[in-house]
Amino acid sequence: MVTLDKSYVSPVPTNWTQQSVQDFAETTAAKLGYQPGGDIEHVVRLLGGMVTDEHWDSPSATGYIEVRDSRDFTINLSPLASGTRRRFTTAHELGHYILHTHMGKLHPVRITREGSNRLEWEANWFAAGFLMPTAEFKRLVKEGRNDAELAFHFDVSMSAVEIRRTVLG
Ligand SMILES: [Zn+2]
Repeated sequence: MVTLDKSYVSPVPTNWTQQSVQDFAETTAAKLGYQPGGDIEHVVRLLGGMVTDEHWDSPSATGYIEVRDSRDFTINLSPLASGTRRRFTTAHELGHYILHTHMGKLHPVRITREGSNRLEWEANWFAAGFLMPTAEFKRLVKEGRNDAELAFHFDVSMSAVEIRRTVLG
């Protein structure tokens, strides 16, 4: 199943700034009705995709995405990834779908971690913005919440919170 099929087209990075990608991700999350700490896999299903760890065949990554068409894509996750890792990776792959295949208009596409760094950065920025919206993050910090409380609130890892805190100053 992992054969590299020559018929795949290459995804293209947006080359937007980190700020732009994160703002876009926040807006997208809001539009899709995603609430912080909410069910990200539900959002994937709303967009016509599915999340599965049943056909995992890639030892080198935590997740990858295959886009067959608009509203037809699969996010494959490592069965070893659990909880917050699984959520962040799902948001990351969703970022690839929305940013790099333009909601499946560009297809068929398969994006793994072996792809360009730029694609991976953008997907990570998307995931951070999607899962941890700026205004809410800043409000909780102002209230004096610590990283563990933020991680619990957004249902993300401590390291994801630390990175977000640094980016948001
Ligand atoms: Zn990726």
